[in-house]
Amino acid sequence: MIASDISSGVERLGEMIAEASIIVPFTGAGISTECGIPDFRSPGGLWTRNRPIPFDEFVASREARNESWRRRFAMETTFAAAAPGRGHRALTSLYRAGKIPALVTQNIDNLHQASGFADDHVIELHGNTTYARCIGCGQTYDLGWVRQRFEASGNAPDCATCEEPVKTATISFGQAMPEDAMSRATELARQCDLFLAIGSSLVVWPAAGFPLMAKNAGARLVIINNEPTEQDDMADLVIRHDIGDALGPFVAN
Ligand code: NAD
Repeated sequence: MIASDISSGVERLGEMIAEASIIVPFTGAGISTECGIPDFRSPGGLWTRNRPIPFDEFVASREARNESWRRRFAMETTFAAAAPGRGHRALTSLYRAGKIPALVTQNIDNLHQASGFADDHVIELHGNTTYARCIGCGQTYDLGWVRQRFEASGNAPDCATCEEPVKTATISFGQAMPEDAMSRATELARQCDLFLAIGSSLVVWPAAGFPLMAKNAGARLVIINNEPTEQDDMADLVIRHDIGDALGPFVAN
């Protein structure tokens, strides 16, 4: 059912939240646009400006690694300045009220942790761009460590331990999905009674399979996104409005 306007959508969502025992949010880039981080597919989004660099190209080509790091550093002011928005804060309020055991996110911006979720309760399907990791041994690095070496030598640094490339701790196209995050997200989708898909175009798979999985396991499904998605027909409630406006009323004071 598509909410006819924002206030009836908020009202119905409030009832569904009250009736639910276990709520699992599933968030995408749309929850962070009001925080100043562009999404991928909207006009002006990141993909309209840069072709993504697939994982095999990153591994094979030093120039691709350099380009990837140049892009990341160009975004640093944006990421560093971003603070949690109304959507993040509403979910944190429901988490603190004991309604949300953990959330699943496609986002890489660390804003759920910044808004008060424990690290272990944020299941990151696509990793995290606020730190770096060696693709060989998995050692983690601060972005400052990478930047200092990049600026000194003109090249993206390799791991100090095993000399394999160092990459933001994100999952690129063509890179294996993190097994632990996938299995925890599967478990959450199957055990919840309300699944909230928020700010995702639901086109990136396998992540986009989780709303369907939750619905098939018996949960109610709510989709909050300002443009249609392919899964709207399946949802119990669709709020096709701004996320901050839809979730703002659920921020606890
Ligand atoms: P997407 O860009 O494909 O979809 C975002 C959706 O949110 C769009 O349908 C857009 O219309 C909607 N939207 C944007 N702002 C909104 C608002 N204020 N209110 C309501 N709807 C709004 O993003 P996705 O589905 O998350 O998938 C793309 C991939 O992009 C993810 O894997 C993620 O890793 C990556 N990404 C992450 C960030 C981030 O961490 N903030 C930013 C860009 C891309």
